[in-house]
Amino acid sequence: MSDHARSNGYTRRRALGLAGRGALATTAAVAGLLTVYQTPAAAAQSNWKFCRRCCGLWFSGNNTRGGCPAGNLFDGGHHLDGSGNYVLKVQADGGAGQDGWRWCAQCQGLYFGLNAGQGICPADASLTPGPGHYPISNPSFGVFINSALFRIEDVDHRDGPGGQSQWRWCVKCAGLYFDGNSPGASGVCPADHRNHSRAGSGDYVLRQL
Ligand SMILES: [Zn+2]
Ligand SMILES: [Zn+2]
Ligand SMILES: [Zn+2]
Repeated sequence: MSDHARSNGYTRRRALGLAGRGALATTAAVAGLLTVYQTPAAAAQSNWKFCRRCCGLWFSGNNTRGGCPAGNLFDGGHHLDGSGNYVLKVQADGGAGQDGWRWCAQCQGLYFGLNAGQGICPADASLTPGPGHYPISNPSFGVFINSALFRIEDVDHRDGPGGQSQWRWCVKCAGLYFDGNSPGASGVCPADHRNHSRAGSGDYVLRQL
């Protein structure tokens, strides 16, 4: 288990930022079009999608598009056009990676939930007293309780070769987003409607079916 999302030391942040810029030349493709070679544990949850409007990862199998911070076009939800079918493993699946990632009941996005405040949610925050995400692990969502805590691989803690790197944790909204199309200037953040920020983030790895 690593601790990247909670790390905010200057030295680590700088090192990770440099690593991200160095990888730019090899990652011009759209997130959904990259090929992945390995399937994770059988208990993993599929139907996670990349939204090319906000660059966030969101769950598409819950009969809602959640809330997208990129604006109110169409129904205001995330889009899945062009996305691969990402699979996430839950903590109980074991293997490498960082625990503490949660699925938000409001925006349907994946976010790191072990920090205070629960980040900033782009959806109507009707379930929370503040602006944060709301973990779907809450007992009122009992049917999902066993799939609520996810373990996410990163380039230094991975189950094997393959996968898609350059997924980042945003220090502003706590969401996971893909930073490989325009590294350092990706998506739309619900915290300020500017790009997400990868400051202090690890380089996370996702896999597709
Ligand atoms: Zn979106
Ligand atoms: Zn949310
Ligand atoms: Zn953000």
